[in-house]
Amino acid sequence: MAVLVTGASRGIGKAVALRLAEQHDVAVNYRDSADAADEVVRRAEEKGATVEAVRADVRDSEAVANMVDDVARTFDGLDAVVNNAGIVRPDRATDIGDEQWQNVLDTNLTGAFYVARAAVPHLTPDGDVVNISSIGGTGGTVDASYAASKAGLHGLTRALAREFGSEGVQVNAIAPGPVETELNDDIVSYLESVDFRGHENVDTHLPTYACDPDEVAHTVEYVLENDFLQGEIVNVNGGMQFR
Ligand code: NDP
Repeated sequence: MAVLVTGASRGIGKAVALRLAEQHDVAVNYRDSADAADEVVRRAEEKGATVEAVRADVRDSEAVANMVDDVARTFDGLDAVVNNAGIVRPDRATDIGDEQWQNVLDTNLTGAFYVARAAVPHLTPDGDVVNISSIGGTGGTVDASYAASKAGLHGLTRALAREFGSEGVQVNAIAPGPVETELNDDIVSYLESVDFRGHENVDTHLPTYACDPDEVAHTVEYVLENDFLQGEIVNVNGGMQFR
């Protein structure tokens, strides 16, 4: 059995795939970056896992259903899915176009729903759905489409935990603050362009807010290992925001 990680060709998803490969077989989902996904597969296989790259756009429900069925067949079931694929298209809310809004919601929220819907029937009795959310979903930043998609992911997490908890499925989310990836570069550029000062009065021991992707991967590992965590939003933000 394996863990399916969406958006694992780079950034946080890649770190999650590489860390989980120490203990699990892994399916590395990607949309466009086939060469990068193949490189993740090669590095994960070095850790002794059976790993395969699986292409699907998480916005496409049929492609997602086929991918999840294929992975479950190949690995004889699923231990967990990590809904990590995500995008940002930041703009002043009054400038966000319909397509732009829909693209972010479709990727970050609906995509996670499609994956969870397809995966739950294949999950082992103590299987997990882990949704990679963001501090943006708990009120930590501007950027309406991204914040709405991630806040929606919190609702989805809790609803699925309520619905499938009695069947032994654990559903949790992880809400990181800034993480050093390409996506974060886009967020930082945007926040600087609008002179966002929401982070200025935060007290933290850290020299920088942005953590290494492996900090998030470590938290995914913790969530998967913990049998008592259910319906939680686990904050990993170095004290940038308390909940
Ligand atoms: P990156 O931009 O570095 O990587 C995004 C990944 O998602 C890529 O592997 C990309 O694959 C994949 N992806 C994008 N769209 C789709 C799609 N439609 N279908 C399938 N895969 C897709 O992002 P991060 O690693 O930074 O972010 C990962 C997750 O963590 C996101 O959900 C993000 O919101 C969240 N997060 C990130 C933070 C940060 O500061 N970086 C902070 C908090 C949360 P491909 O290249 O093949 O398109």
